[in-house]
Amino acid sequence: MAFKIRDIVNALEAVAPSSLQEAYDNSGLLVGQMDQEVQQALLCLDCTEEVVQEAIDKHCQLVIAHHPIVFSGLKRFNSSNYVQRCIELAIRNKVAIYAIHTNLDNVLQGGVNAKIAERLGLVNGRILQPMPGQMLRLDVYVPKENADELESALFDAGAGQVGAYSECRFAIDGSGSFTPGEGSDPYLGSQGVREFVAERQVSVVLPASLRSAVLSAMYKHHPYEEVAHHLWALDNAHPDFGAGLVGELPQAMSESEFLAHLKSSMDLHNFRYTPRKHNGPIKTVALCGGAGSFLIKKARACADAYVTADVKYHEFFDTEKELLLCDIGHFESERFTQERLAEILSHKFPNFATLFTQTNTNPVRYYL
Ligand SMILES: [Zn+2]
Repeated sequence: MAFKIRDIVNALEAVAPSSLQEAYDNSGLLVGQMDQEVQQALLCLDCTEEVVQEAIDKHCQLVIAHHPIVFSGLKRFNSSNYVQRCIELAIRNKVAIYAIHTNLDNVLQGGVNAKIAERLGLVNGRILQPMPGQMLRLDVYVPKENADELESALFDAGAGQVGAYSECRFAIDGSGSFTPGEGSDPYLGSQGVREFVAERQVSVVLPASLRSAVLSAMYKHHPYEEVAHHLWALDNAHPDFGAGLVGELPQAMSESEFLAHLKSSMDLHNFRYTPRKHNGPIKTVALCGGAGSFLIKKARACADAYVTADVKYHEFFDTEKELLLCDIGHFESERFTQERLAEILSHKFPNFATLFTQTNTNPVRYYL
């Protein structure tokens, strides 16, 4: 069954909106066109030349990768490095490449870290470092008799969600007034005559990623030609968006039990860690797939153990021996991300075929 790349991208970005990617990132459709047809996709952590060749061999029209192969501008296409060769091979063979990187890192539900938490069996998962600037408040003024319809439309578009509570809004009844000018086509009153209307101010919060969907719903379900409204940027952090994750093990473990649990649940051969000065139980676990040294202090403040990757020698000292810091390797921490991508797509499109790459793209080997 054929889908458009746009359908696939929309399904993935409904879980991890593109606006959540970090400034240095380059997530999105890197090669190909949104209206291109796709029968099956190859899922991977890294899109390399070998992965594109595998996609060609397996008749996949799309590669969905976690890491973008292109981060900065390419000025030449003369096969002189692995990035150019990969892109050239994809374009020549009409294989599209899509990357979903830090936007998938920065969501709680369905993100990279939720997959790691699931493997470790953590419960009560929450964001370790919530992201600011992701919440908006909308105040809209509407005739009282039209308020119910407008509110329903705003809720349907995703506004008014506060934690586990939906359809949250605050309303104040008051008196609105306006004088329709030349060229206007007023819903109430007539040109040149000041109109007084019993109006309701409806206030809702919304994630910044739903801004255009909520505003479209507002315009569609408001009777006025000019919709009086204010959109405010809030300093409140969105509880579902941000870096890292922290949760609890169902049963506390000793340090050695936790290390063994980590090894088996993440299917590791070996990994680096730094012990604590005490040997208390491990109950609260923080984690961040990929490079997560920037969250060591946050993890130390709230967790017994922190699982991440790409930790430098001196950064192990930042634990102050109060945190069991485990560096399990970048590839190893994120290798199950492709399962998460498959779960999102199979839930939305049961008939869409996704294949996992058989290419081992980890550039790091361990000599034992
Ligand atoms: Zn990564």
